[in-house]
Amino acid sequence: MIPFLDLKAINAQYREKLITACTQVIDSGWYICGKELEEFERNFANYCGTQYAVGVANGLDALILTLRAWKELGKLHEADEVIVPSNTYIASILAISQNNLKPVLVEPDIHTFNIDTKKIEAAITDRTKAILPVHLYGQLAAMPEIMSIAKKYHLLVLEDSAQAHGAEIGGKKAGNWGDASGFSFYPGKNLGALGDGGAITTNDAELADMLKAIRNYGSHEKYKNLVPGVNSRLDEIQAAILNIKLKFLDRENQHRRQIADLYLKGIQNPAIELPLIIIDTETYTQHVWHLFVIRTRHREELQKYLADHGVQTLIHYPIPPHKQQAYKEWNDLSLPISEQIHAEVLSLPIGPTLSVDEAKQIVQLCNGFQI
Ligand SMILES: *Cc1c(COP(=O)(O)O)cnc(C)c1O
Repeated sequence: MIPFLDLKAINAQYREKLITACTQVIDSGWYICGKELEEFERNFANYCGTQYAVGVANGLDALILTLRAWKELGKLHEADEVIVPSNTYIASILAISQNNLKPVLVEPDIHTFNIDTKKIEAAITDRTKAILPVHLYGQLAAMPEIMSIAKKYHLLVLEDSAQAHGAEIGGKKAGNWGDASGFSFYPGKNLGALGDGGAITTNDAELADMLKAIRNYGSHEKYKNLVPGVNSRLDEIQAAILNIKLKFLDRENQHRRQIADLYLKGIQNPAIELPLIIIDTETYTQHVWHLFVIRTRHREELQKYLADHGVQTLIHYPIPPHKQQAYKEWNDLSLPISEQIHAEVLSLPIGPTLSVDEAKQIVQLCNGFQI
């Protein structure tokens, strides 16, 4: 069986280093908000090219707490509208609604799966205060265009970079385009911890400072609470693990690109639509292939055929947010592109330990699929 993603094999590559790092934390006697976190925040900000990174407990909190911080700083107010792609993972939308802000769903481009910039301006109203673009599956949304729209209408931009550690356009990385950016270090992400983790990157000192307070009960100084904060900290063990795995992120992303390249060049089957990568020779774009997502009208048959031949695939995601029970008020909305995407997408195995031979087998299987 070729697994969709072999987390055990991925972490086994660094087993000795991870054990040493965890042992150091155990022996230090200091487990929360210590030097591993400080070091990781420095390393990750450097990696993304930003001034600041603030570690938090998970990717959802990275998004929630950034919007929350903007409310505390008077930049957002309840009921403000936030534009978000309609086909994103539910977390991007939860971050908005949990802050009593109003998510405004905008359809994606069917070929790149990212928010359709042509549709953003039509969705802007007097109440629009922010855009939350998502770099879905590892490819940056069209950030140059999005940032110029944001500038024109004075909107804040919060990137959801949970699937795009290391992706870039013209040398500028995910996390360094918007006013702030949320990352997840969920174990299956391109940079994954051995548990939950998340971070916010930003160049805004005031925001970074507010986030550091909010994640820690609203407090910079023990027992002195500036704002009603939460407990959402990235612990020392996870930070130590991330300090090690960050060193290998570029190498792992490069391997993912090699696998994606084999799929893109090798899969030729009229029943399978390959993902579109934007290659602009001026603004050179680096996809980091968190997921390799194809579209097919025969998804059930293709998924079963691949499983019968020993290849595990997954669906990201089977139900669009506006059809979820959690958002009943949207269930009657018609968002045809999202609905088509959710009905047709299938994710092939991709990851740092999937071998070239396995990828070639998958290409051959895809080419042998007949409806
Ligand atoms: C994984 C993910 C998140 C949430 O991250 P967690 O660490 O699981 O909370 C947010 N947005 C997107 C697009 C994601 O893929």
